[in-house]
Amino acid sequence: MRTLKTFFIRTYGCQMNELDTEIMVGQLENRGLTRIDDENTADLLIFNTCSIRDLAERKVMGKLGQLGRSKTKRAIIGVTGCMAMAKKESLFRKLPHIDFILGTNNLTDLNQVLDEVLDSGKQTLRTDDQFEENLNYLVAKRDDPVKAYVSIIRGCDKYCTYCVVPYTRGQEVSRPPESIEEECRILVQKGYKEITLLGQNVNSYGKDRPEWNCLFHDLLYRLDKIPGLERVRFMTSHPTDITLDLMHAIRDLPSLCEFVHFPIQAGSDRILKKMHRIYTKEQYLEKVALLRSIVPDVCLGTDIIVGFPTETEEEFQETYDIFKQIRYSVAFLFTYSPRKGTPAFRWKDDIPLAVKEERLQRLLNLHQEICSEERQLMLGKEIEVLVESLNKEQQLKARTRCWKNVIFEGKKELIGTIQTVKLHSYSHQTLIGSLEPKNTVLTPNQSLSLTGCCG
Ligand code: SF4
Repeated sequence: MRTLKTFFIRTYGCQMNELDTEIMVGQLENRGLTRIDDENTADLLIFNTCSIRDLAERKVMGKLGQLGRSKTKRAIIGVTGCMAMAKKESLFRKLPHIDFILGTNNLTDLNQVLDEVLDSGKQTLRTDDQFEENLNYLVAKRDDPVKAYVSIIRGCDKYCTYCVVPYTRGQEVSRPPESIEEECRILVQKGYKEITLLGQNVNSYGKDRPEWNCLFHDLLYRLDKIPGLERVRFMTSHPTDITLDLMHAIRDLPSLCEFVHFPIQAGSDRILKKMHRIYTKEQYLEKVALLRSIVPDVCLGTDIIVGFPTETEEEFQETYDIFKQIRYSVAFLFTYSPRKGTPAFRWKDDIPLAVKEERLQRLLNLHQEICSEERQLMLGKEIEVLVESLNKEQQLKARTRCWKNVIFEGKKELIGTIQTVKLHSYSHQTLIGSLEPKNTVLTPNQSLSLTGCCG
């Protein structure tokens, strides 16, 4: 049987895909393979794909097609991730040089699939609909020494009409709280300071397992007790499932950052209904008002799709107005692209690309204005940051609790510590500050009393 010595892996898409890559890297390194950056010389190439947008999919298909035409050394080629789930065996027909397809629910099978391919020389497919609950998360090989992703729930039961996730990642399956706590404790022992809890809809956590008696906010209270865990974040949330208990947890738990990704997607009730978002604009605004009354410093993020089928100029204006009213700090803004297999795929994609792009640009401009005003208001303030890394200029890169980038001069030994920085300027998307003289390097169990970035 042929022996594999090196592998190259490329990740497309979201944080969940990044975590899945870390799990695959750990499995391959445990098998004795070495990760390399050169796809031309690696014995094994893995493309961990994304299916959420047309552009992401086209990029991967282009790359994979190019590999088939390449005359360089023949490596084993595997396709994993959401595109593997969405296209399954049809990928073999389009790209006959691919050796295996591994779905999002089959990460545990990676080494077995590789053995099968090496043994038989035949194309192998493993794409189960049900998530494998025995996945060993502890094997994940993380590059970032300060922040880690931890998966708490997989899949989604919401079935928004434009989204492939319920079809590519399956139904919601929560991970046992004990397993999450164990992983978080181990990560803190290894020196990690910040954990981002991941799921397509983290707010649904535990609803599929009532016998655990542990909903999302209960999990957050449990994790807050872990000594040395400085910061907890989560993404992403569905507005319908953001509860009063969760809002109280954001207010009360020192580890939980005052940032909530609260994706509205559109500002018109007719479009929201067509998207099957199961809330109205009014219900959404009521939740935001309630959250802001409980956590005044909270910063909000959103996802928005412009140019959804039949969206009128007036309906787009409603989205624009709500953006202006809420003043999102973080926004992921997209033009609509139809995804095969979703209900919206059957509808005419009737908004011309030029109109979609013009609407997108208006929102981007508005977001830029809001961010500049927000940064201007922050100048002169002292703010708590977690130091994450060095940039190319050897300055320290850090983030506020509200996920804002900050750079300042300082020693690299400060990486992984909480510091206080006084902000004096900003450029583009980054705040610039200096360490406060009173600053001390905090031990893992200490935390500063400063709160969110917007106050
Ligand atoms: S809630 Fe999010 S992941 Fe679930 S179907 Fe809707 S957009 Fe997709």
